[in-house]
Amino acid sequence: MAGLRVRELRKSFGKNPVIEGITFEIPEGEFWILLGPSGCGKTTVLRLIAGLEEQDSGDIYIGEREVSPLSPRERDVAMVFQSYALYPHMTVYENMAFPLRMRKAERRSIDEKVRMAARLLNIETLLQRRPRELSGGQRQRVAIGRAIVREPALFLFDEPLSNLDAKLRAFMRVELKELHRKLGATILYVTHDQVEAMTLGDRIVLLNEGRIQQVGTPEELYERPSNLFVAAFIGAPRMNLLEGRLSSDPNGLFFQSGGLSIRLEDSSGWMDYSGREVTLGIRPEAILLDRGEIPCRVEHLENLGSEKIVYLRAGEERIVSKTSPDFSRKPGEVLEFGIDPKGVHLFYEGRRV
Ligand code: ATP
Repeated sequence: MAGLRVRELRKSFGKNPVIEGITFEIPEGEFWILLGPSGCGKTTVLRLIAGLEEQDSGDIYIGEREVSPLSPRERDVAMVFQSYALYPHMTVYENMAFPLRMRKAERRSIDEKVRMAARLLNIETLLQRRPRELSGGQRQRVAIGRAIVREPALFLFDEPLSNLDAKLRAFMRVELKELHRKLGATILYVTHDQVEAMTLGDRIVLLNEGRIQQVGTPEELYERPSNLFVAAFIGAPRMNLLEGRLSSDPNGLFFQSGGLSIRLEDSSGWMDYSGREVTLGIRPEAILLDRGEIPCRVEHLENLGSEKIVYLRAGEERIVSKTSPDFSRKPGEVLEFGIDPKGVHLFYEGRRV
């Protein structure tokens, strides 16, 4: 096991720059997520680390070793793919034993490692089956087992749960977290699913268009998004983002936009941006219905059982609120809302201030 350090990594395909100077460092034993929208370069970063692609510039260290000159095999990295990539004609046992056989490990040691991994993954009773006789979730476990037996310095996961249905995905998330606790392995896990990222990651590297937008714990990304991209990407429903102007008078600081005026508590020197065009971000759960003085009208509701999503119109702005399921108003009704200052963020020229 070892940590991973990536410094100023760059990669183009032809004239198309895909990775534009990426730097981060995963301490040994931590579970990190590489998150971002489709096409932002996540898989390319994993393939560079695994040695399946060659970077144009930058360094990759696994532990103390600079691995760029090494072949994929020499890097001591195990990769688990979305597609499982199991051998259909081999049993579960043979699939898991395969990487050790390739290394000419002793039969006894192979047997011990395969059984240990099978126990860890709860697939001991499936060892004699072939992949076609397994469910999607069981196949994914075999693919993970095949990575575990190698005892690699580093695990790379590329969207390993995206072929599973929602219920199984939720279950496997818990299992993966538990597995990480038992193995204490260093993991870099690629996903475009923010729920996976928020629930699994010690830290998240959020990528967009080949550049890092923010590195931090799930809480940091949610509570202190460094820019508008992070603010909009993390959180469901999405943060309300209103464009307007700040102004101040003796009564305080106000945000004005499309017929809407919101009084703000001056936080972290927001007063300095008075007179400027800004974006105000408000988390849906910070819109407190029937508890304030900003007038609005209910346009549409979604009842998700444990919560209600309420679509509002305030002035010319559309605003989304996440509230409790006992909110009983109907579309067309007029009410007032207040704002919990904890869920309010201010952005100037795209960056959080
Ligand atoms: P997804 O979540 O959809 O898998 P991703 O974030 O993993 O996306 P990548 O697969 O890393 O994204 O691709 C990043 C960009 O690089 C895309 O625009 C893709 O088309 C391009 N790309 C990836 N591999 C190659 C290649 N071998 N040749 C040319 N372009 C490539």
